[in-house]
Amino acid sequence: MKNLGKPLILILSILAIIGFGSCHDLKKKADLIIYNAKIYAPDSVMKGVNCIAVKKGIIIAVGTDAEIRSRYWAPENINASGATVYPGFTDAHSHFTGFAQGLRYADLSQAHSFDEVIGILKGYRKLHPEGWIVGRGWDQNNWPGKAFPDNQELNKVFPGIPVVLTRVDGHAVLASEAAIKTAGISMPVKKGEAIFNNGNFSGIFLESLADKLRNMVPLPTAGEMTEYLVVATKLCHEAGLTAVTDAGLNKSEILLLDSLQKAGKITLRIDAWLNPTEENFDYFMKDTVYHTPFLRVGAMKMYADGALGSRGACLLSPYLDDSHNKGILVTSPVELAAVCKLAYKYGFQINTHAIGDSAVRMVLHTYAKFLKPGDNRRWRIEHAQVVNENDFAFFAKYHIVPSVQATHATSDMDWAGHRLGYVRLKNAYAYNRLLQQNGWLPNGTDFPVESIDPIRTFYASVARKDADGEPLEGFLMENALSRIDALKSMTIWAAKSCFEEKRRGSIEVGKAADFTILNTDIIKAPEAKLLMTKVLYTIVDGKIVYKAR
Ligand SMILES: [Zn+2]
Repeated sequence: MKNLGKPLILILSILAIIGFGSCHDLKKKADLIIYNAKIYAPDSVMKGVNCIAVKKGIIIAVGTDAEIRSRYWAPENINASGATVYPGFTDAHSHFTGFAQGLRYADLSQAHSFDEVIGILKGYRKLHPEGWIVGRGWDQNNWPGKAFPDNQELNKVFPGIPVVLTRVDGHAVLASEAAIKTAGISMPVKKGEAIFNNGNFSGIFLESLADKLRNMVPLPTAGEMTEYLVVATKLCHEAGLTAVTDAGLNKSEILLLDSLQKAGKITLRIDAWLNPTEENFDYFMKDTVYHTPFLRVGAMKMYADGALGSRGACLLSPYLDDSHNKGILVTSPVELAAVCKLAYKYGFQINTHAIGDSAVRMVLHTYAKFLKPGDNRRWRIEHAQVVNENDFAFFAKYHIVPSVQATHATSDMDWAGHRLGYVRLKNAYAYNRLLQQNGWLPNGTDFPVESIDPIRTFYASVARKDADGEPLEGFLMENALSRIDALKSMTIWAAKSCFEEKRRGSIEVGKAADFTILNTDIIKAPEAKLLMTKVLYTIVDGKIVYKAR
């Protein structure tokens, strides 16, 4: 019996090998096949296409299920069950490292009482057992009684531990006794910089003493920073993002991102923009931009003015609600021109924050001194929030790219009119009009200023409503984007805005296998359903980096 068994097993094994071999000989091996899907290219739904094959991070075939699965097999297969596949979503203006740094703070913005603050901090302590406790976002106006808190409870629950909690507006902090001691703050202090309880510090400090306390908090170590960047990556993938921007970094921050991407710890593609520093120019401004499959360093970030909310945006005529104030330029035309000259010489993009119509005009005019009509430099104006009637045509003439953030419109809509008045408001957040000028435009969030959620960007772009569905009729609807244009602004146009459109941003053979799979067809779904959209899968470089449970 022993001798009979062996040949039988051998024959069966050979048959099995021949069997599998013949099947797989006919079929080529892919790494991943996504089938039974609805696919946006993104220009339109791909007719007769519901299957994608991927190998080595690249799309190698698209076609019908039958066609692709008769030609390819893969060890990993995703049955999309009719769900919709889009090119991976890109955030064209965000602050990824800043978002990651923010993860070290306990988020107190949702606390409805000081007891809830303490509860959140206890949870934070479990995750961060060592060092300082830092939090931000508390607002006593959301608590019963609306009185400022004091530090007695903090001292009791966290004895000897320095705790610094920044108020929502950033101008006040609540500090524990240990933090006050470490900062060396003692009586007397400048009037208005502290609040007292029976002649002692209550723990609330304002303005320069608040800054002093915050500055005492040790910077995150390299290990901690790595941890925050890894968590931030995960959060981006959960939201459906495959690529982001890091708008304004220093050399060491860029090198850290690069090393973590190469180690496979950051699986997001990043377009990193340089702060205009000597060190950055020396290191990165070479004749070719620094480029890996995951990182591009080919742009400089400049600021022309401040923000509209704090009346720092630079306007051509005064604020309607502050008749002596036009805001200010933070970079002069001469300074901007000096950086433009460098950027032009080395083939770098220059991406300048400009919000007020005066700042936008200054940047357009300065760019126009260097750009020739027909140039393909893709120099950008970030936000381009308020544009004078006479200046729209500059975007078309010099191919200057308006880089917009749709949720800024819906975050600002309640008060933007008070600052600007009706005439200027008509030319503010004018995304569709800007699109008509340049022919394409990238869309982002500016996170962590706004939520990282690209679905909210899409919804704000097309419905011009906030996350609560307000206002019912939409905000300045003549500047809504069509759904296809909104999708392109987050995919192929976002890629184009950093010269990546030949590598990614659309579903085509030869392009990077970056996909966002949603449970909703956001091009066809009723508007009210858009915000209920769920991300099912996020895929980067052909690998599943997020899968909904
Ligand atoms: Zn920004």
